[in-house]
Amino acid sequence: MAGRYDAIIVGAGHNGLVAACYLARARWKVLVLERRPVVGGACVTEETFPGFKVSTAAYVNSLFRKEIVHDLRLADYGLAFLERNPSSFTPFPDNRYLMLGADADLNRREIGKFSTRDAEAYPRYEAMLERVASVVEPMMTMVPPDIVRPGLGDGWKLLQLGRSARKLGAALGEVMEIMTGAARPILDRWFESEQLKGTLATDAIIGAMASPSTPGTAYVLFHHVMGETNGKRGVWSYVRGGMGSLTQALAQAARDLGVEIRCGAEVARVEVGDGAVRGVTLAAGDEFTAPVVASNADARVTFTRLVDSGMLPPEFIEAVGRINYDSASLKINVALAEVPDFRACPGAKAGPQHHGTIHICPDQDYIERAFDDAKYGQPSQQPVLECTLPSAVDPTVAPPGQHLMSMFVQYAPYKLRGATWDEMRDPFADRCFDLLNEYAPNFKRAVLGRQVLAPVDLERIFNLTGGNIFQGAMPPHQLFSFRPVAGYAGYRTPIRGLYLCGSAAHPGGGVMGAAGANAARVMLRRR
Ligand SMILES: Cc1cc2nc3c(=O)[nH]c(=O)nc-3n(C[C@H](O)[C@H](O)[C@H](O)COP(=O)(O)OP(=O)(O)OC[C@H]3O[C@@H](n4cnc5c(N)ncnc54)[C@H](O)[C@@H]3O)c2cc1C
Repeated sequence: MAGRYDAIIVGAGHNGLVAACYLARARWKVLVLERRPVVGGACVTEETFPGFKVSTAAYVNSLFRKEIVHDLRLADYGLAFLERNPSSFTPFPDNRYLMLGADADLNRREIGKFSTRDAEAYPRYEAMLERVASVVEPMMTMVPPDIVRPGLGDGWKLLQLGRSARKLGAALGEVMEIMTGAARPILDRWFESEQLKGTLATDAIIGAMASPSTPGTAYVLFHHVMGETNGKRGVWSYVRGGMGSLTQALAQAARDLGVEIRCGAEVARVEVGDGAVRGVTLAAGDEFTAPVVASNADARVTFTRLVDSGMLPPEFIEAVGRINYDSASLKINVALAEVPDFRACPGAKAGPQHHGTIHICPDQDYIERAFDDAKYGQPSQQPVLECTLPSAVDPTVAPPGQHLMSMFVQYAPYKLRGATWDEMRDPFADRCFDLLNEYAPNFKRAVLGRQVLAPVDLERIFNLTGGNIFQGAMPPHQLFSFRPVAGYAGYRTPIRGLYLCGSAAHPGGGVMGAAGANAARVMLRRR
């Protein structure tokens, strides 16, 4: 089987699909090849338990770009974001709790239970993040300037960045700290109550092999407050029908634009001749030709497994070899007969405590200790749990009366010392369940089924090197003009016609769509 296309996209993650749509809108003939039986990559819904719509990997949205929803008319394809209100619930061992959300009065009352000073500081903290976001957010849709071989255009971009940074005035120092520093000293300066700081610090460690006192975690925290839902900044939502509804909507929009999508089609090789891309060959042997190939796979997979590394400059291969893929995130999807009934906030029916993210993380020291275990190659004795119950807001994801839980767990290091994940997967999941059961004593008996995805499973299922959920860690030296490597942050690669279009490139991980849209813009400039 063979075919000629204007562009081939390797991988139908949400970014690959976004790129395909924008190319097809410009009348390119586009083929998308996905190795899994289903489109979506890490943004997918699967019926893991009969009757349940499980968001296997990603589970909440706020980062997805609203201009893409608009351009591709995704609402017409059934995409709907369901706000979570309140958005966060943290039960504590002393049976108190903290609830947070978009409602300023609720936040003042809730934080005031622990500290009046913090209740007053919180709106100012949010306003500070908003100020930083006003400068950083426009960078998400920018093609980062090349700082290794800057041309005129790159100089102009740097000048523009300097200009918008000037708007911040004296706040620039604060921005630099957020972009490069650790989350903990920032939270310690703003607030005194450990209950609030512990809850806020969980955003700083999502997907990171780092604790809140590690430099670089302030940006991870910030990255997670930069999005919006239905025009409300920082508000996270469920996608009706699970996260896969987003990628199903994208896939249908793509098909309507003429894109051909093939699943179960693993690309084994990107074909290169005379320094330019020629097409791809599937593991099954089929060949497809195109002058443009965009890889939605991560940089390590793309440049060491799909492309013959002899075709690439040695210093580029070295730089790709230096990319940090450390990971310590594990996901457990749980089918439940009933909602967890929390000692701190009793209720056998779905209530506000079940709407948002349920944090099992009493304070920042708890996170530090959990990370200490991981540093020495052990899963945390007392892990940090982020649980969500989409079925409490979206009844379509579970059979009537039953519930679905996403349990996102840290730290579960990819590289274990003295054990394998085959040995540790179930005992560690049991430890997580025991922990949640201390807070909600009906939890374990309500479990109908579970799917445990250790970092090695995320690597195997989604082709994510090291199980890193962001296709590469997000410390400052792996962001913007340095993502995936300095000199190649503009979605181009050393091979003519070969591009990256996924979260391996700027602006990194999360269901955002910006990488796919930015990469498509760069590809379209070829003509
Ligand atoms: C467990 C987990 C939880 C997360 N939670 C959230 C969350 O709640 N909210 C959020 O915003 N983000 C979350 N993220 C991050 C987010 O899901 C990812 O950053 C995002 O989905 C990446 O999208 P992508 O299109 O760039 O790449 P991917 O989703 O990684 O897609 C790449 C695609 O390429 C395919 N592929 C790879 N190699 C080949 C090949 N050789 N041939 C053909 N196809 C290939 C893969 O199968 C995959 O479908 C989470 C990620 C994980 C893993």
